[in-house]
Amino acid sequence: MRESTQVLVAGGGPAGSTAATLLAQQGFDVALLERETFPRYHIGESLPVSTLRILDLLGVREKVDAHGFVRKYGSYFEWGAEQWSLPFSHLDGEDKYSWQVKRSEFDKILLDHARSVGVDVSEGTRVADVEFADGAPAAAHWSTGSSSGRIGFDYLIDASGRAGVLSRGKLQDRVFHDVFKNVALWSYWRDASPTGRGPQGSVAVCSVPGGWVWIIPLHDGTTSVGFVTGKDRLAKERERLGGPDEVYRDALRRCELASQVLHTANRVSPLQAETDYSYAAARFCGSRYFLAGDAACFLDPLLSTGVHLANFSGMLAAAAIGSILRGEVSEDDALSFYERVYRNSYTRFLTLVSVFYSAYRGKDAYFFEAQSLTREKRRDLGVGKAFLDIVSGIEDLSDADDETAFEFLRNRFTGMEGGSPVPLSHHNTYLDEPPTGPESAVFGMYLTRTPELGLRYSAKTSPVPYATPTTDA
Ligand SMILES: Cc1cc2nc3c(=O)[nH]c(=O)nc-3n(C[C@H](O)[C@H](O)[C@H](O)COP(=O)(O)OP(=O)(O)OC[C@H]3O[C@@H](n4cnc5c(N)ncnc54)[C@H](O)[C@@H]3O)c2cc1C
Repeated sequence: MRESTQVLVAGGGPAGSTAATLLAQQGFDVALLERETFPRYHIGESLPVSTLRILDLLGVREKVDAHGFVRKYGSYFEWGAEQWSLPFSHLDGEDKYSWQVKRSEFDKILLDHARSVGVDVSEGTRVADVEFADGAPAAAHWSTGSSSGRIGFDYLIDASGRAGVLSRGKLQDRVFHDVFKNVALWSYWRDASPTGRGPQGSVAVCSVPGGWVWIIPLHDGTTSVGFVTGKDRLAKERERLGGPDEVYRDALRRCELASQVLHTANRVSPLQAETDYSYAAARFCGSRYFLAGDAACFLDPLLSTGVHLANFSGMLAAAAIGSILRGEVSEDDALSFYERVYRNSYTRFLTLVSVFYSAYRGKDAYFFEAQSLTREKRRDLGVGKAFLDIVSGIEDLSDADDETAFEFLRNRFTGMEGGSPVPLSHHNTYLDEPPTGPESAVFGMYLTRTPELGLRYSAKTSPVPYATPTTDA
């Protein structure tokens, strides 16, 4: 292992390989340290359409397409009394599909691609500690188990996922949300029947008493089936039923679609669980570092947003670092931009997920009500009217109650209003279009992809001082 690099990336999941690839493509010297040896297992299999745009930027879409993952043409929701399909065919633009992926294989394609464009990838190499100098990270201490060393860098991208080398380990500023105190239980099944619902390759999401179930078809003939419930409820149910496995099976029995699909299926993996998974770091970046993907923040997987946010923030971090190193923007400005744009994207999804949950009007609604962000919390998050306008396309939805908001969301997502199709754009569906022109500039800056990925000032304005953000949690 060499002793220094311009940019060090910790973690080779979607966030790390996206950032590393984009920086290497700009000619920077990038080293990536990944704790595991790929392929390695990971949850997070259902991808939104927005993934395609970033895979195009990376130049890896063909490789992913050629792999044979299940093509996903939409999603299917059974939410309380509602049943609706979300076809991607209603979206503006050319992209009308994404994939249901085995993450071990998807992540390996992305990491191998990073290596192929010049990233110096070391697998089986854990970042054990980060050394600070003058208040900023300056070097990482790594370990392979049999050897160890130190590597210095100009910039660090922490893309170490939930492990969170910087935020959870070093800075200890990860804050868990007081809504979304949930647990996911899941396993894999062989010979499940197709759901027969929604567009081809859909993920099916079904509410059940005390939570919801996901059903995701995978290309190796297995089906990923999970149950999300409240942490407090799981504790009670474990006591009542005997253990987490019993709670999982009981939830699947209560889900008509899962019972039908799994009628002749065999379970082929032990139960897996993830708990307390919704959190955000107090700061997403600082002098000489950026947190990308789950290393920065995570929200409930209801709308399958995790890989998208990982790719998206990896791209933003690469743009910010590229422009700082080329001297196009000041570090302070780039940090302000990254913090604002990534946090906005995250908090919009957070709000959207909460609105989806709180629109549930079924029996045993306690779990769903517990996911509700109060109006004050939403205001603190700073999403307010502007966000709701984007979601709803009407002027004053910020004054609407959740049920009304949900009605509009449903129309937007299903592409139907009053029985007629309405055009959906990526903008109002994915809510995270980064500012790509002077008209939408954030802190006087926008993202550009030409002549290379980076940030641009919209005009010579006085830079807005960087302010430590307030975090909801
Ligand atoms: C129950 C559940 C269901 C989900 N479902 C979906 C879904 O359907 N769709 C979706 O898009 N998302 C889903 N997600 C979210 C998704 O799994 C994550 O958001 C996504 O994997 C984040 O990517 P990442 O690159 O930030 O982190 P990761 O993919 O976790 O990658 C981080 C990498 O860093 C490595 N690492 C960790 N520590 C170190 C260290 N010290 N040194 C070096 N390397 C290190 C790890 O080995 C790992 O490879 C789900 C999450 C959960 C919990």
